[in-house]
Amino acid sequence: PRKKEEADFNFGRIIGEGSFSTVYLCREVNNNKEYAIKVCNKNHIKRERKQEAIMREKDAMLRLSDAWSSTAPYFVRLYATFQTVDNLFFVLSYAKRGDILRFIKKMAAKEVDVTQFYAAEIVQALEHLHSLNIVHRDLKPENILLNADMHILVTDFGSAKILSDHSSQASAAETTPPGAGGGRRNSFVG
Ligand code: ATP
Repeated sequence: PRKKEEADFNFGRIIGEGSFSTVYLCREVNNNKEYAIKVCNKNHIKRERKQEAIMREKDAMLRLSDAWSSTAPYFVRLYATFQTVDNLFFVLSYAKRGDILRFIKKMAAKEVDVTQFYAAEIVQALEHLHSLNIVHRDLKPENILLNADMHILVTDFGSAKILSDHSSQASAAETTPPGAGGGRRNSFVG
């Protein structure tokens, strides 16, 4: 199929803003499917020196989307990317119910079975992520969104690290120095 472009989507309201991005609720013109599209301004990314973070985010999300698992569908999925002169666009699954922080405050803290349910989904999500050699490194309630059916969608792979096959098998004691390719890092994140 041809690469998607801005004209393939109708842009609706703003659903969120990050430090260098705006997220819009959108519908694909062809089939009316709903997506969240994250628009990142290139100049802003350069000014904030976020080029590496944005590429890391894209690489981790592509790896996840390519190895999509129906038994662990607990991630915001990257459906397409495209760009204009000024902006980068990420076409993402839409997390209709917002982040889990609000939900925890409202209800989950009082209900043990609800807490168990979400703990189990998070563990399943992390097992899948780690099986793909991806370490999220910034998992927190704000980065766990909820879809229309109240299942989790883990997002924000800007701090993620993709381990090389070799380094993922090394023990924690066998760390390589920071900056050594796909090796383990000792940097402080999250
Ligand atoms: P920063 O870039 O400062 O770390 P961030 O990671 O929250 O912030 P974005 O990923 O651009 O930045 O998201 C901005 C906001 O948009 C989020 O806080 C969230 O509320 C909303 N959002 C992001 N992705 C989705 C999505 N797939 N579905 C629904 N809402 C989303």
